[in-house]
Order: sequence, then C-alpha cells, then structure tokens
Amino acid sequence: MIIDVVTLFPEMFDGPLGYSIVKRAIEKDIVEVNRVNFRQFGKGKHQRVDDTPYGGGAGMLLKPEPLFDAVDSINEREPETKKRIILMDPAGKPFNQAMAEEFSGEEHLVFLCGHYEGYDERIRSMVTDEVSLGDYVLTGGELAAMVMIDATVRLLPEVLGNADSAQTDSHSSGLLEHPHYTRPVEYRGMKVPDVLMNGNHGLIAEWRHKESLKRTFERRPDMLASYDLSDQDKKLIAEWKTEEME
Ligand code: SAM
Repeated sequence: MIIDVVTLFPEMFDGPLGYSIVKRAIEKDIVEVNRVNFRQFGKGKHQRVDDTPYGGGAGMLLKPEPLFDAVDSINEREPETKKRIILMDPAGKPFNQAMAEEFSGEEHLVFLCGHYEGYDERIRSMVTDEVSLGDYVLTGGELAAMVMIDATVRLLPEVLGNADSAQTDSHSSGLLEHPHYTRPVEYRGMKVPDVLMNGNHGLIAEWRHKESLKRTFERRPDMLASYDLSDQDKKLIAEWKTEEME
C-alpha cells in the first residue's frame, strides 16, 4: 500500500510513523508513507497557501491551487495507482473500524490535512471521501490522519505478529473485546477466572464470547443493533435486562 499525507506540518508525523507496528510495516515495505508539504505549491514570494474568505468572516481559508497542485504531483509520481483521496474534515463521515477495514483493502490512500478555518469549497471536488475523527474540532487534520493511518496499517496482511489479534479486537467482531488476564494468578485479592486456566478451549471460547456480549450490552448497547445475535445471545441479554430492573 502507498499512503501520501498532504500537510503543512510533515514533521508532526515523525512520532507516529517512527514507532511500533507502523514503523515495522514501513521497514518491511508493507506500506510506503510519503509526506507532501503543500507549502511548496504556495503562491508568490511567501508561498501563500491561505487567504481571506469572500463575503467576510473570521479566519483564513486554504486556497485551492496548492492542494490541487499537491495532488497533481502525487498523480504524476504514481500515475497508475487507484487512489482514495480523503479529506480530513470535522463535517465528514465519522471514522470507524469498518472504514479502517475498507481503507486497508485499497492500493493508495491520500490524506488531505486542513488547517486554519478550513478549505475553499472547490477542494471537495477532487476528493473521494470526507472523513471526521469525531465530533470535536482539532487545530489541523494531522492528528486525525495519524489515527486513521495507524488504524488502517495494523490491518494490512502480515503487519500484526499474531494474525488473529485484529479479528478479536473491540469493534472488529461487532462486539467489544472480552477481558484478558496474564500472570500472576492472584493479584491484590483479584483472581484470574478459573475457566481460563482449565485448558478447555471450548469453554474458554464460550466464556469469552459471553463476556464480550456482556461488556457490549453494558457499555455500548447501540452496537448490538447491528450484531447478528444468536438465540443464546438473546436469552442472555433478556436475563441481564431483567437483572437491571430488579
Ligand atoms: N471551521 C471548520 C469547521 O467548523 O468545520 C474547522 C476547521 S479546523 C480548525 C482545521 C482543520 O482541522 C479542518 O479543516 C480539518 O482538516 C481538521 N480537523 C479538525 N477537526 C477535525 C476532525 N474532527 N476530524 C478530522 N479533521 C479535523
């Protein structure tokens, strides 16, 4: 996969790209990440990338030419790849695990990071996706792009050591993940559940599924609406609802 980040602050990506799973994926050539500073396509002696809004109002807007030119330069460098051009925008579609999975199947992702008051509207005409990290306003699109890159890259084949670990992660299966325990067996009076130590894989899987379901029911009941509940799941949920009312 190729990822291009179009940004005024390429150095901000040193940290997230330089550690742990994303770093290893880059080293193993599973992903190539390029940073394109669109300041280089700014206008005039001062390479201006922003200007005042027509009609007045507070703040400066990103001009269309530097961002269009930056994307043109990526198309010139990689003319053959099929690209998703993703605009970082608090008014976009909220990012989630399903979107990360979709992105991880793409050949080339281009993240456009905004700044100042926002974009000249015409910039939207070249993008395939407008995506928000969540319902809050960040200073720039960089932190949002970093999160989306991290969530996407860890899903690429052969990036995670244990191929199963992404499948059981919270949000991948449609449920939150079950609790985990490691040594010691007892710590400050808190014991590891017996079922995890009896070696019976059927019982362990059953316990984990039940705990996932319970955690989702308690913390994120909205997720259950799109989860394919078995008859046994429905029975358990009915019991927990009755317990809640008692
Ligand atoms: N005036 C804009 C608005 O109300 O929609 C907010 C501009 S914000 C200060 C500057 C840039 O940060 C945005 O253009 C976008 O690229 C990025 N940004 C801010 N919040 C974001 C979020 N929740 N998700 C993704 N990008 C965000």
